[in-house]
Amino acid sequence: MSLVLFAGAEVILPDRILPKAYVLCQRGRIRSISRRHPQGLSAGTTTVDCGGLYLSPGFVDIHVHGGNGHDFMDGSAPAVRAACQAHARHGSTTLFPTTTTGNPAQIHAMLKACAEIQSQRSPANGARIAGVHLYGPFFAEDKVGCHPRSGRRSPNASEYEAYFQTGIVRIATCAAELPGAAAFYRAARKRRCLITCGHSNASWPEMAAAHANGMRHVDHFWCAMSNVSSVRARLGVPMRGSMLEFVLGHADMSTEIIADGCHLAPELLDFAYRIKGPDRLCLVTDSNRAMDLPAGRYRFGPKRSGSWFHSDGRVGWAEDGALASSVQGMDHMVRHMAANSSASLPEVIRMASLTPARLGGIARDCGSIEIGKRADLLLLTPELHIHQVHLAGRPLPVGH
Ligand SMILES: [Zn+2]
Ligand SMILES: [Zn+2]
Repeated sequence: MSLVLFAGAEVILPDRILPKAYVLCQRGRIRSISRRHPQGLSAGTTTVDCGGLYLSPGFVDIHVHGGNGHDFMDGSAPAVRAACQAHARHGSTTLFPTTTTGNPAQIHAMLKACAEIQSQRSPANGARIAGVHLYGPFFAEDKVGCHPRSGRRSPNASEYEAYFQTGIVRIATCAAELPGAAAFYRAARKRRCLITCGHSNASWPEMAAAHANGMRHVDHFWCAMSNVSSVRARLGVPMRGSMLEFVLGHADMSTEIIADGCHLAPELLDFAYRIKGPDRLCLVTDSNRAMDLPAGRYRFGPKRSGSWFHSDGRVGWAEDGALASSVQGMDHMVRHMAANSSASLPEVIRMASLTPARLGGIARDCGSIEIGKRADLLLLTPELHIHQVHLAGRPLPVGH
């Protein structure tokens, strides 16, 4: 059963929608995209009737902490697998599991568990792991947010070199103002990671220095990042530019938004889209273990030592009343962005697939419906709800 034909779909290409089209997949890859029914197919071809449905590339999430009761920082293979399965049900076919703050043993356990699941290629494992986002622990003290405070520190070469040596870290975050940040960025650049600044109160000059060392991305725009007044509170007058102005003022800087409807109002979502454009703006879930679970009290980060937060079923709340990351999957983010911004549907999908794939260095393999790429495909209803998820051309097993 190596040939699968998706027939009569509204195919969402990176720049347009191809109506009533055919996408043929062979051995898990996209072989052809056409307006006409392909000829000469073998009798064993599986046809998936896509009438009235969108065919979308699977989503790629570069910032995700967990779901369905599990945080990647729980550090066990079963927890990682369960979180990947949960996100696949929400349309994410590729993830960059994201560390929180924590001690080195907890971070190593997370890297090891992710590597173990990454090596087991099976649709039953849900979303594929493309690499890890080393996010915590190198955050600024005044921007730790909902992360476990005791697990925050400044970068130390022997610690992060051990993480990089595992080979699984593909995205690397550090607050730009920390002592040792420049060396961290240079080490991450050697590994060809996407280098990002997050949970930071950096000024424009600190961002400029980071940029010179390869930093090109800022985590969850407007959340746990600097603005003019937060920089003034740290450095006094004259007022200085912040991460915000730096990202908006540099065409080669990319960023990401949490479009769950709880973190950012519609005008900010649309502003980010209009200023950065769909090739420099990603949708991320930033979702934690409470995704798919009822409202309640949960831990953010490692199961035993993570900080407590409360989910009201729509978003997470830290004990101090601040937001504590999202509890929604990527399908929700896509629906919310489509309904609350001026971006076209192909652009919204691109911000959830091709753009993050490109930034994560995997766009040759996935992120769009193009010949030769992995057949990670979603069937979406006209209202953009998930109808079916295909991983490398095979449907997500029922019950997962
Ligand atoms: Zn964060
Ligand atoms: Zn996060």
